[in-house]
Amino acid sequence: MHDDFQDIRDGIRALCAQFPDEYHRKIDAERGYPEAFVEALTREGWMAALIPEEYGGSGLGLTEASVIMEEINRQGGNSGACHGQMYNMNTLVRHGSEEQKRRILPKLASGELRLQSMGVTEPTTGTDTTQLKTTAVRKGDRYVVNGQKVWISRVQHSDLMILLARTTPLSEVSKKSDGLSIFLVDVKEAMAKGMEVKPIANMVNHETNELFFDDLEIPADNLIGEEGKGFKYILTGLNAERTLIAAECIGDGYWFTDRVTKYVSERHVFGRPIGQNQGVQFPIAEAFIEVEAANLMRWKACRLYDEGKPCGAEANMAKYLAAKASWEAANACLQFHGGFGFACEYDVERKFRETRLYQVAPISTNLILSYVAEHVLGLPRSF
Ligand SMILES: Cc1cc2nc3c(=O)[nH]c(=O)nc-3n(C[C@H](O)[C@H](O)[C@H](O)COP(=O)(O)OP(=O)(O)OC[C@H]3O[C@@H](n4cnc5c(N)ncnc54)[C@H](O)[C@@H]3O)c2cc1C
Repeated sequence: MHDDFQDIRDGIRALCAQFPDEYHRKIDAERGYPEAFVEALTREGWMAALIPEEYGGSGLGLTEASVIMEEINRQGGNSGACHGQMYNMNTLVRHGSEEQKRRILPKLASGELRLQSMGVTEPTTGTDTTQLKTTAVRKGDRYVVNGQKVWISRVQHSDLMILLARTTPLSEVSKKSDGLSIFLVDVKEAMAKGMEVKPIANMVNHETNELFFDDLEIPADNLIGEEGKGFKYILTGLNAERTLIAAECIGDGYWFTDRVTKYVSERHVFGRPIGQNQGVQFPIAEAFIEVEAANLMRWKACRLYDEGKPCGAEANMAKYLAAKASWEAANACLQFHGGFGFACEYDVERKFRETRLYQVAPISTNLILSYVAEHVLGLPRSF
């Protein structure tokens, strides 16, 4: 896999140039949503990259989508405001019925609808997803949902959400990952009749929420794929999510190494550029090496995903390496900006907070290590 896609990079760079650092800084300070930026991305068709052409999109692969996400972060933005649509849409493209795809995908492509949210995590069960407590019980032509979710992002800037709920009790399934199903939820309709949304103030400017379901009715037509197979479907989406987030971290990593390289070349202390000191050079060089290496695993994960081959290990490893590399780069960038790294006008502290998230979400570093130990190395299952 080669790293060019120059036409995509040029297009995103031109768009991002209309939204300079000041724009993202202001939105961050206001804890706002980059509405104009996401609208511009949608208008130019970038958010429809993964939608097949027959449904109004550009029919590109995860590889190209990852370049879009990478470039947004590399230009100083934060794909976290909109990346949900990319991987959620893919769940619909791969597992939705023809009727659902015809009903929804063209509207996502045109920007009439947004599918930015995915509701998986729950407060009492956390990473132990198969134990989740939210239930969806079939009653005639509807499912009735009860339960609670936490950390569900972009709900207030989305028309649709993909929701994971248990449709067969854990005690009645032979495998704990069976009996879970995914649904399309019409957010506005749900908020009017059984879904409560409570925003969570947090460290990053990331719109994320607690959700409470009290007898929320969802039309049975909104079940995606087969009932009881939702966990398998959601994993496809999660592999796409991890790979895209790896690309975003790569974008962040380059942003940090570019910024700090420029800064240490220009900042003079003790009568010479601080970047002339090897104590300054080495952590920056080390971070750059790690970003480059993580990038190789990102391309591998993208290729396997686009070929429809198993890519769980590569998607997880790419996310692990890229999140670690961008964090090392963030630390070096903050450190060598000295006091100025803490000043909002340099944008370093904002990007530092943004990239830190990816060691915890959408999957924590420990859980990736555990996945590789068990599923790649064949070590005994630990939980
Ligand atoms: C800003 C933000 C946005 C998010 N957006 C979404 C979203 O849109 N949709 C969604 O569904 N979720 C979302 N999440 C949730 C996110 O995926 C979870 O926070 C993450 O998976 C970790 O789960 P948890 O917080 O329940 O941590 P826990 O499962 O409670 O784990 C806490 C820590 O304990 C450690 N740990 C846990 N179990 C083990 C183990 N067996 N071995 C070793 N270490 C372990 C890990 O280091 C982990 O970081 C978001 C989270 C944040 C912070």
